[in-house]
Formats: sequence, structure tokens, C-alpha cells
Amino acid sequence: ASAALSRIGLAGLAVMGQNLALNIAEKGFPISVYNRTTSKVDETVDRARQEGGLPLFGQYNPRDFVLSLERPRSVIILVKAGAPVDQTIAALSEHMESGDCIIDGGNEWYENTERRITEVSDKGILYLGMGVSGGEEGARNGPSLMPGGSYQAYLNVEDILMKVAAQVEDGPCVTYIGEGGSGNFVKMVHNGIEYGDMQLISEAYDVLKHVGGLSNSELSEIFSEWNRGELESFLIEITADIFKVRDEAGDGDLVDKILDKTGMKGTGKWTVQQAAELSVAAPTIAASLDCRYLSGLKGERENAANVLKDAGLHVEVGPVKGGVDKKRLIDDVRQALYASKICSYAQGMNLLRAKSNEKAWNLNFGELARIWKGGCIIRAVFLDRIKKAYQRNPNLASLIVDPEFAKEMVQRQAAWRRVVGLAISAGISTPGMCASLAYFDTYRRARLPANLVQAQRDLFGAHTYERIDRPGSFHTEWTKLA
Ligand code: NAP
Repeated sequence: ASAALSRIGLAGLAVMGQNLALNIAEKGFPISVYNRTTSKVDETVDRARQEGGLPLFGQYNPRDFVLSLERPRSVIILVKAGAPVDQTIAALSEHMESGDCIIDGGNEWYENTERRITEVSDKGILYLGMGVSGGEEGARNGPSLMPGGSYQAYLNVEDILMKVAAQVEDGPCVTYIGEGGSGNFVKMVHNGIEYGDMQLISEAYDVLKHVGGLSNSELSEIFSEWNRGELESFLIEITADIFKVRDEAGDGDLVDKILDKTGMKGTGKWTVQQAAELSVAAPTIAASLDCRYLSGLKGERENAANVLKDAGLHVEVGPVKGGVDKKRLIDDVRQALYASKICSYAQGMNLLRAKSNEKAWNLNFGELARIWKGGCIIRAVFLDRIKKAYQRNPNLASLIVDPEFAKEMVQRQAAWRRVVGLAISAGISTPGMCASLAYFDTYRRARLPANLVQAQRDLFGAHTYERIDRPGSFHTEWTKLA
């Protein structure tokens, strides 16, 4: 006489795994859980009991865990990406059978997922690489889920994923992404876009603080106000909250006591590497990554500040001469942030399109924007506009040329240029906003100075050039004619 079998299993009970398991159990799906270090199994079982007796069952070895599941079995893995995933697959797959499925929910490099899909297929095991966004809170109360790989495996758990994901007015924040490692790739680009959003918000803060002279309490109010308009989003909301927190260990506000050195785990770097590999321009995301690198050079920056001061550097840091019109600056910065964000998302979406073409993933960009509307870190009202842009035209070359976004950018460009100009003369770097504006100004120009670069290439390397007035490729003996 055996106990009733669980509908699904989850292995790896750190922050993400524990919370996702509780979420699944709460939605009424009996779940078995397992972790290499078994104290975490007890911890999770305790939490399930405290939360009112959720249908969650602890297992203490891979065999019992796998055998406690209904067939075809579905097992979610949430362990550290890389080798731990391979080790966990090895331990579990030994007891699994043809038709069973492994779902890796970690931030995994998409090529690892593609390798594992092939490896487990020898045993007939199906595989999903599923991006999970929203951190601890999202995992517990509704994440954004990006499953890619075996469509059959997706169908086996679709009902669970639909209930567990964040819910927005146009449905649950989950969709089948595509084949292979597409789910991981989409999650990676989501994180790259997240880098861009965070950088742009930090620049808005920098300009308002150093050019506008705004206090933290004023900043908190401004961000709260912005969160009631077109910029409404999780990141704007938490930014408003951050400015409210006092330092418990001393006087003043906590944000002013935090060392200006940013950490990172690698998904932003992967995004920029992929953009370069695929010849897709992603300058806003790259600028965000570069800023994290530069932020890490705290000692060097302190030294440079001194050396350049001694050398006589004087920039007008602080409220610009004659004072700035605060109200107008605030409104300009809001518009600059919004326009810069459009360019950043255009870059991310175009990177996804290039990869989708390369791998024949057939990604649905409108659906991606929709499942990012809730649960994840970049969730924002703005994503609904992106969804609609791709619904209007699934083959849109760039968000910049969607008629609605085009109108919004044109309306905001004067404010955008004023903010960047003010920041430049005040010596406040705004690499993300500048990168976005340069991207816009490059993309929208029918003619660029690339004719000169091409002439230079032909002069020194006989690389040839094309002409605007007739077909063919041409070479000129430039030095003879000059
Ligand atoms: P984590 O700190 O990345 O990993 C800890 C878990 O991995 C523990 O369960 C640990 O088991 C297990 N583990 C490590 N090495 C192992 C091995 N060799 N064999 C078996 N198990 C091993 O956990 P996390 O923060 O919950 O993240 C899990 C995944 O989700 C990661 O890929 C992460 O990038 C991704 N993710 C995290 C967040 C977040 O906000 N934290 C958000 C989205 C995605 P032991 O207890 O036995 O050590």
C-alpha cells in the first residue's frame, strides 16, 4: 500500500525552490520536494505546515523523490546553475523513465540547456529550460515564467504553470517560449533589459540630485508620482521606497551610506556578448554593463577625482548657474527616462529577434512583452504598449518605428536633449541616456557618415564600396587621384 503520488516534484530548496514549491502547493497541486542537504527539506515541510497544511511532501533521497511522482513525472530543478544542475540531473534521471520530464528553473546559459536536452533524450526524458523571474517574492506569490524546450513537457505542466504564474488582466505571465534553450535565452535578455532600466533610473536620480538639487524626500515624492503615470513599474516603485529609508546605524538616509559599487552575476554580460556575436547594436544595455564595471573601480575613481582636480578640472557640478527651473527639470527627466527606455527595449527585442532567426525559435514578441507585465523585475505598464506594438505588426523592424512609439519619442525628444545637454555641461555622466539618444539619432538618419569609413577602407585595404547612384562594387586608386 503506497501513499498517494504527487503531481509534480521540486529539487533544490534554497530561496527560489522553497518559495516556488510553496506556491505550487498552495494552488492545490500535491508536490514532493527534495534537497541535497536534507535540513532544507524539513524547513520547507515546516513552512508548508505553518501555512495551513499545504499538500507538500518531503523526500530524503533521489530515488524516493522520483518514485513519489505521478507518471509521466515532471521534476523542477532549482539549484545553482552550471555543474550542480548536471549533478542533480544525473542523480534524478537514474530513477526516471521515458516520457518523464526535467524542468531547470535556474538562470542557466542556454547552450547548457541545449546540451542537456540531447543528453537526456537518450533515455527518452523530455526537458525544459524555464526562466523564472521575480526573485523570492515572485517565486512565492507569482513569478513570470519563460519555459522553452519540449512542447510535450510544457503541455504536461501547463495547468500548474498557469496557476502558479503572476496573473495580469490579459492572463497568466507564462507562455511556451519555443524550442531548445529559448526560455533561458529570453530570461537572459530580460535581465539585460533590467540592467538598462536600473542604470537609466540611477541616471535620472543623479541628474535630479546634482543638477536639480533635490533631496531624498523630494526624490521619493517624484518617483511615487512617476509611478502613477507612464513610467509605472516595479523598479520605479521600489526606488520611491528606497529614498524613504532612514539609516538605522546613524544619522541621515540609508541610500547615502551605500558604497557606490555594483555587484553582478553575469546575465548582463552574456546579453552584451550575444549582442556582439549577432551583430546587434545594444548600446544602452552595454553602457549599463560598463557602468557596473566602472563602479567597481572605486579606488581608481577616487584617485582620478584628485588627479584631475589638481590638474585644474572644474565642471559646474551642482545646480546650473542662475538656478534651474526645478519643475521643468523634473518633467524633462521623466520624459528623457521614458524615451531612453524605449530605445533600450528596442535593442533587447531586436537581439531576441536576431537569435530567433538564427535558431528558428519563432519567438512571439508580443507574448514576451505580455508575460513580462507581471511577476518579474521589469514589470511595467509600458510593456502593454510593447505588446500592442507587436500585435499591430509582428514583423516590426524596431519599436522606434511603431507609429505610437514614434509619436511618443518625437514628443519627448526636446526634453531628452535638454536633460542630456544639461548633464553634459554639469559633468554628470548619463551613459545610458546618451547611448539611447545616440542610438535613436543614428537609427533615424537616412544617411550616416559611413560613406567616409567605407572610402577609408577602400583606400587602405581595397575593400571596395558600393555607390548610391549605380549598382556594383567599386575600387578606386585614391592616392593617385588625390
Ligand atoms: P542558489 O543559491 O543559486 O543555489 C543553492 C541551491 O543549489 C541549494 O539547494 C543547494 O543545495 C543546491 N546545490 C548547489 N550545488 C549543488 C550540487 N552540486 N548538487 C546538488 N545541489 C546543489 O539558489 P537560489 O538563489 O534559490 O537560485 C536557484 C536558481 O534560480 C539559480 O540558477 C539562480 O540564478 C536562479 N534565480 C535566482 C533568483 C533569486 O532571486 N535568488 C531569481 C531568479 C532566478 P544544498 O542546500 O545542498 O547546498
